[in-house]
Amino acid sequence: MGEPTRTARVVILGSGAAGLTAALYCARAELKPLVISGVPAGGQLLITTDVENYPGFPEAIQGPELIDRMRRQAARFGAEFIDDNATAVDLAHRPFVVRTGTRGIVHADAVIVATGANARWLGLPSEQRLQGHGVSACATCDGFFFKGRELAVVGGGDTAMEEALFLTNFATHVTVIHRRSSLRASSIMQGRCHVHPKVSFLFDSEVVEVLGQETVEGLRVRNVKTGVVSELKVGGLFIAIGHVPATEVFRGKLDLDGEGYLRVHDHTRTSVEGVFAAGDVHDRHYRQAVTAAGSGCMAAIDAERWLANQPVPTALPPVKA
Ligand code: NAP
Repeated sequence: MGEPTRTARVVILGSGAAGLTAALYCARAELKPLVISGVPAGGQLLITTDVENYPGFPEAIQGPELIDRMRRQAARFGAEFIDDNATAVDLAHRPFVVRTGTRGIVHADAVIVATGANARWLGLPSEQRLQGHGVSACATCDGFFFKGRELAVVGGGDTAMEEALFLTNFATHVTVIHRRSSLRASSIMQGRCHVHPKVSFLFDSEVVEVLGQETVEGLRVRNVKTGVVSELKVGGLFIAIGHVPATEVFRGKLDLDGEGYLRVHDHTRTSVEGVFAAGDVHDRHYRQAVTAAGSGCMAAIDAERWLANQPVPTALPPVKA
């Protein structure tokens, strides 16, 4: 028996703010979008606590709740979800073909890529060895396990500030280690960290080794200006140094830039006609929930208009097993 195969006018890859907004707009345009959510579904908002800058929520909203609301809103208008990863794509011919991990193959007339980005790591062997044993890239997921310990966060952006502040709920102290002397984070987030009694900063510094056999016991840290290496005793390390776009399955199939972000032209169009991009997978500049949602809306409108100008639906009926 062959793999289950189905068709869709539009397939949306990814279910963060971009993918779900694209799904909402496609659903309301009666395109019956099929969302291949990615596992875990929900994107980066899923690991964000208070979202204070998404318009319409003056008291803030938790990231997972915002994502849940977006998903239910898209489903209400007929978006369908497959909670699986897209493991391979064939974009050389139409209908396009998307293969999922365990849920078969989908043929689609148009594709919206909204696969987002994943946490970046330092790339140290000791960091990799102790991942899940004191090294983490998600304070929201793992902070609870670090009650009563001294912790370190690497990074100088908003994520690092947010992680550090969140970790103060559990840690006795949080040291933010940043490779430069000035932070990249917004001034409001910097300010909150600077005044917090449990947070301190180690500037011009990089982690060169994570110490410990079974779990994190400390860090070897090098001052990048003086070259002096010192040890910092901590019981956990959180990496918050940005993200890498999730574009591996599109390598060689869609134009990517040097860092792997999708290249777009004319708003949301990729290098293949009928394939559109939304959110962090192509946006290295803004990377906000609200801009991702906006770009999901744009991709959906572009896909809808493009489909309206195609002679006939090309997606094949289900292939007989
Ligand atoms: P980011 O702004 O790109 O910051 C990444 C930080 O990691 C930078 O400080 C960078 O140092 C450092 N870094 C990168 N590679 C490194 C390496 N190999 N070793 C050591 N340090 C390294 O990423 P982000 O903080 O994840 O934020 C992404 C976007 O989401 C931003 O637009 C941000 O405003 C937004 N965001 C907003 C909120 C909020 O408003 N509540 C929360 C989280 C994120 P350099 O500064 O030297 O480049």
